[in-house]
Amino acid sequence: MGQNEEKLVALTFDDGPSNITEKVLDILEENGIVGTFFLIGNLVTADKKATMERQLALGCEIANHSFTHSDMSKMSAEEIREEIRRTSDVIRELVNVETKFFRPPYILVSDTMYENMDMPFICGLDSTDWNPETTAQERVERVVSNVKDGSLVLMHDLQDNEKTLQALPVIIAELKKQGYSFETASGIFEKKKVNPHVPKKMWSNVFD
Ligand SMILES: [Zn+2]
Repeated sequence: MGQNEEKLVALTFDDGPSNITEKVLDILEENGIVGTFFLIGNLVTADKKATMERQLALGCEIANHSFTHSDMSKMSAEEIREEIRRTSDVIRELVNVETKFFRPPYILVSDTMYENMDMPFICGLDSTDWNPETTAQERVERVVSNVKDGSLVLMHDLQDNEKTLQALPVIIAELKKQGYSFETASGIFEKKKVNPHVPKKMWSNVFD
């Protein structure tokens, strides 16, 4: 199969680092696959350094999910730039990487946000796993029945999000059965030869 025919998916995780992030990494490692972690800056503390180093060592990507996880659509240009800068800074200080992608908290966006950020905005195929009432089985079904080549799957390594730990191995097994390979956010755009830098665009799939 040529590069362009290979079915690719990017699993992405928001709202960490948390008490389940290491367990998500265990599952990814057991399956020999990578994911992308959109970190909340104010959760990025020195005690998370080892977890972040493990993310990178496994080939995972670290991305930007704001500093305070607030509704940024109501913020001024200056406040928006501060949210991004502080998060990029604290990640760079701990593990020396530059974040390349941004996910807006609550997927709320404004023109001011688009105009004041250089990073591509990522939404994704929503597993609805941010809702504690969504069962593990529903999380699996949301993903495996809606996934397409190029999908960016939105999940959460949110504090205590045990149902996603139950769903994740099943999601991975199902996607493997459907013939998918797994990439980071950077990797899936690169392999599909799609430039993610498109003005005022929020991506859920690299092809739409
Ligand atoms: Zn979030």
